[in-house]
Amino acid sequence: MTICDAHLHLTRKDLPKLSAWHAAGLAGATSATARHTEWAEALELTQLSPSWVRYAMGIHPWYLEKAPETALEELDTLLANHPALAVGEIGLDFADGRDDRERQLHWFEAQLARAAKYRRPAVLHLRRAWDCAPVILAKYPEVTTVLHSFNGSREVARQLHEALPNCYFSFGFALANPAATRQAGAAQVIPTDRILTDSDYPFQHLPSNPASVPTDLEAVIARLAELRHDSPTLLAGQIAENWQRVFDEL
Ligand SMILES: [Zn+2]
Repeated sequence: MTICDAHLHLTRKDLPKLSAWHAAGLAGATSATARHTEWAEALELTQLSPSWVRYAMGIHPWYLEKAPETALEELDTLLANHPALAVGEIGLDFADGRDDRERQLHWFEAQLARAAKYRRPAVLHLRRAWDCAPVILAKYPEVTTVLHSFNGSREVARQLHEALPNCYFSFGFALANPAATRQAGAAQVIPTDRILTDSDYPFQHLPSNPASVPTDLEAVIARLAELRHDSPTLLAGQIAENWQRVFDEL
């Protein structure tokens, strides 16, 4: 089965694993950063990785406290100098009592504006932010966005798709859990040409396997196919086409 992973976190120690994953079906992968201190290594990896691996640079909403304001200029320079870079992982996370709303909003919009300026796709982490994220995203309709490990409801998926035609919904390992009924509802209403899958390797895993790797997304594709009454092979092919549409522009 062809597998594409729209969001994972590769480091230098993962490079030797890439050829085995590729042989097992992984045809495309987008690796993101979470902290600005990871950018130098990620840039090095762009030189050492096969062409089916793409890189995104950004600061995750959990790691803004230590991010200097100068990192925005650094991001700007990186994107200007490296036309193949996407933006990510950026986003908003208001779960678990996080109270740094102003700081998160500032960094989310500033990084999104860089994606718009350089016409790059952006990989997003959004949790409990459905009230304000669509308003901000609507200001940058030219940015193709990937909502990684999408965990919104069917209604949220419908509203986002209607408001943001360039938005892709990526499902993670959580969907393989039969108890994930909210995600399952969303997975049934998203148009086929807007679906992606992501492992968030090494931070998420299948309920049955704590050592999950990107090729284990096969279980997520199987679950998506079941929910959508589709063939897993055909759906996997469509997801690969979607991944290429987003990241081959780079
Ligand atoms: Zn991530």
